[in-house]
Amino acid sequence: MSTRRVLVLGGTGDALALAGRLCDDPAFAVTTSLAGRVARPTLPPGTVRIGGFGGADGFAAYLLDERVDAVVDATHPFAAAISRNAVRACARTRVPLLALERPRWTPVAGDRWERVADVVEASTRSRDLGARIFLTIGRQGLGSFAAIDDRWFLVRAIDAPEGPLPRHHVLMLARGPFALLDELTTLRAHAIDVIVTKDSGGDATEAKLAAARALGIPVVVVDRPLIDGASTVSDLDAAVSWLAVLSAPPRTKHPA
Ligand code: NAP
Repeated sequence: MSTRRVLVLGGTGDALALAGRLCDDPAFAVTTSLAGRVARPTLPPGTVRIGGFGGADGFAAYLLDERVDAVVDATHPFAAAISRNAVRACARTRVPLLALERPRWTPVAGDRWERVADVVEASTRSRDLGARIFLTIGRQGLGSFAAIDDRWFLVRAIDAPEGPLPRHHVLMLARGPFALLDELTTLRAHAIDVIVTKDSGGDATEAKLAAARALGIPVVVVDRPLIDGASTVSDLDAAVSWLAVLSAPPRTKHPA
């Protein structure tokens, strides 16, 4: 059986885990692609390439040059540009594409969530709801809050944001996963009265939702962007099965 060249679009824990699984299987040669946004990324096993492809055209050229057999888009659900480029480039080059997307978070009894369409709407709603706002949306989108100078913000991100920030803020540089007790401590220590999050899904950052529930704090949840055009699975096993089917030798036809 020939080795299949799999490109994993990364930048998430799911991509790390997938690369780990595939590297254990000699049927696959895995390359993970990272955008290069984080200063010290956790590197997956296998080959790693870092940096943009140059839009959908550059992506398509890369797929052909590197003779990629399949692409798994395991990027963050809010990384919409790269996912749309993957759809276009794979369609053009006829390389099979799978999206590995963790399920959305769903509220349970006691949650006080408000879903909004985007970060701009989140800035308006959170300002209405509270005076001390915890921004857990990463670095992108913080600019939508920059002009709000009559509220106080706790801004959490892995690396320091480059763009403008609101006048009254404290920056907390931290990388998940975050434990429930730590989230409770953070919310109490800063007297947070509203949280803003993207609907990232997954366990690594969901403790903040449980902490908000325990303290009765409202959460403004930014909905995911819509990206069509790829088959989608929500867990690693399903992604590995999809790749296994793809790499299985064609069944020989028996003469009638
Ligand atoms: P994005 O807006 O979808 O992508 C912007 C551009 O960055 C893309 O057009 C592409 O450049 C390049 N790019 C993005 N991901 C790439 C990858 N895995 N490999 C190579 N190039 C990539 O992405 P983003 O929201 O800035 O996110 C960047 C990375 O951070 C992603 O890999 C994502 O998984 C991770 N991440 C994002 C978030 C979030 O909230 N957005 C949260 C956690 C992690 P070219 O057009 O030049 O190819």
